[in-house]
Amino acid sequence: MVLPFVLAGCKTAFGSPPPTWSIVIHGGAGVLSKNTPPEKVKEYEDALIKALNHGRDRLAKGDKALDVCESVVRILEDDPHFNAGKGAVYNEKGEHELDASIMDGSTLRCGAVAGVRTVKNPIGLARRVMEQTKHVLLMGDGAEQFATTQGVERVDNTWFDTEHRKQALEEVLRERQRTGLVDVQTPPHTYGTVGCVVRDQDGHLAAATSTGGMTGKRWGRVGDTPVIGAGNYADAHVAVSGTGTGEEFIRHVVGHSISARVQFGKQTLDEAVRAVVFDTLKPGDGGVIAVDQAGNMVARFNSEGMYRGMADSTGRVEVRIYE
Ligand code: ASP
Repeated sequence: MVLPFVLAGCKTAFGSPPPTWSIVIHGGAGVLSKNTPPEKVKEYEDALIKALNHGRDRLAKGDKALDVCESVVRILEDDPHFNAGKGAVYNEKGEHELDASIMDGSTLRCGAVAGVRTVKNPIGLARRVMEQTKHVLLMGDGAEQFATTQGVERVDNTWFDTEHRKQALEEVLRERQRTGLVDVQTPPHTYGTVGCVVRDQDGHLAAATSTGGMTGKRWGRVGDTPVIGAGNYADAHVAVSGTGTGEEFIRHVVGHSISARVQFGKQTLDEAVRAVVFDTLKPGDGGVIAVDQAGNMVARFNSEGMYRGMADSTGRVEVRIYE
């Protein structure tokens, strides 16, 4: 759904004023097949529009990039359609282990949690790691104990359950048994993730990303989402959030690579994102969303689709799933 039409990655038209704020969101690069009934597709579009509108309204009234990113990701975490918070995928043991991180581009302050099991909104805990500790990343039991000291909302691990994710796990496990390959995946159900990148009216950038990881992942596996510089990154030049096969995003330090291309390589945001998504990563690995200092917005992917939306102060609004 495009309201009205805008090309991902295009620059502000010559002569038109640059945007005073910009926001891009994603709901993961593991999308429904193109044969999915339109009413099902609409559910995902509506979920994206709800989160995007929330971010848009907050930015229009001058709220800060970091606050907007966190609250938009919370909305997406609470939505069972996406692989983060409620609706997170299952690991190989049939449980949920959640990862999240948040980064403030103007100060490089950041916080992350990995492998949390009872925190309703992992992005909120990541923010508390950033603001209440001198650390960047807390994992497992230590992160859970920190959540207790912070009084954040807790739930039983089964609260994250959904039928469609259970079926996806069963499919992956069946496929592993059939092929004898322990790490086989059955795209597109295997990943998802949610993310938000923002440039606010003060010109500050921020990024937030949250995920349940990959379906059937090994117990204890940590992906790129809580790894600052890989699946989530913001500095004074760009803010980036990724979705896809986390191991590849970690190997290629995707978020920071995009920043380095812009900062040192003098590439435009779109050139930098295209180079990383289409040349560095392999087809099917996933995609990224990004904004830069000038408020340019980009969403690119090398998978079949990516749930995504973008909006800025000039009135551009777009929500899309496929190409
Ligand atoms: N990147 C996430 C991970 O590997 C998965 C995803 O994007 O869906 O944990």
